[in-house]
Amino acid sequence: MTDRYLELATSGDAAGKKVGRLPRSIPLQDLRDLGHPASPIKAIRAKCIECSGGSMAEARLCHLTHCALWAFRMGHNPFFGKTSEAEAETPTNHAESSSDSSA
Ligand code: SF4
Repeated sequence: MTDRYLELATSGDAAGKKVGRLPRSIPLQDLRDLGHPASPIKAIRAKCIECSGGSMAEARLCHLTHCALWAFRMGHNPFFGKTSEAEAETPTNHAESSSDSSA
């Protein structure tokens, strides 16, 4: 990491130490050049693949349901566009969900 994206903290426990600059203060092109995904969901997907040793298949198989990223590990937000009421009317299809290996 280049010092370009660090700054000296002026207060708190980290005062006088180099800390990461706030991402909003960094030009978009720099963030892209650094390889950062442009959306939180893509970032989570990338993190899960990294956590799984670089394997998309292993990320799919992750069983650590307590992880804060687990519900988003396939690169989709399962909460988006759903309501609890609509789900209650739809029977759960475990066979379909267990064979879903698409991203
Ligand atoms: S959900 Fe699983 S693969 Fe993703 S970061 Fe958590 S433990 Fe790793």
